[in-house]
Amino acid sequence: MRKYYKGWVDAGHGGHDPGAVGPGGTKESNVALNVSNMVYEHLGLAGVTMGFTRDIDTFESLSARSNAANSFDADFFISIHCNSAKVPAEGIETFAMRGSKEGLRFAGFIQDSLLDEFEDAIDRGVKEAGFSVLRKTRMVAILIELEFIHTVSGEAKLSDPAVQERCARAIANGVLRYLDMPVLLKPDVPALVDDGNSSVGKTKATVEEVRLRARLSKAKKLAKQLTELLADD
Ligand SMILES: [Zn+2]
Repeated sequence: MRKYYKGWVDAGHGGHDPGAVGPGGTKESNVALNVSNMVYEHLGLAGVTMGFTRDIDTFESLSARSNAANSFDADFFISIHCNSAKVPAEGIETFAMRGSKEGLRFAGFIQDSLLDEFEDAIDRGVKEAGFSVLRKTRMVAILIELEFIHTVSGEAKLSDPAVQERCARAIANGVLRYLDMPVLLKPDVPALVDDGNSSVGKTKATVEEVRLRARLSKAKKLAKQLTELLADD
């Protein structure tokens, strides 16, 4: 069993390449950058040795991204993007390299974690693709499409710093679960029992509430899938 891990976080686009741009002008490159910086921070604090493609608004070529992660000898690679389409669309999806079983497993942890955090989000699933950063990296690699930025509602969510932080924490927690390391506690979950002083009691209640929320969100998701299934006919 490994005692420590090295990870790479790759904020998509940047510099003269804004990626997709929302109707209000929000750039995919900036959302990806903010989330990436927070993922870097969370995983670093959790004890993972982290590297990154960029922590400022600058352009990096696709090959520079994979080369840097390969030289760093990272154990895993996460590329962060926002989705876009020509038609209205919403939902979260995570890509792994075509044919990579381990990639799909890793992507599953991240996708699940994001859907636990955003319980009303549409699950577009874990998918396979041949994107350059997935193909040219030597470690297990995934590419996350957080949400669609080309719609007014999607852009409103993605440009909200609180949502960006929730994305980052969900991604970090997914990575930690994949690595079998302790996950971060949710800072925004209110304690069920607050006796004013006991931090021990608070922590317990918080953990319980987190579990309860996870169960509720699973139940909600099942109900939603069932409704959609029935509505298909
Ligand atoms: Zn992108």
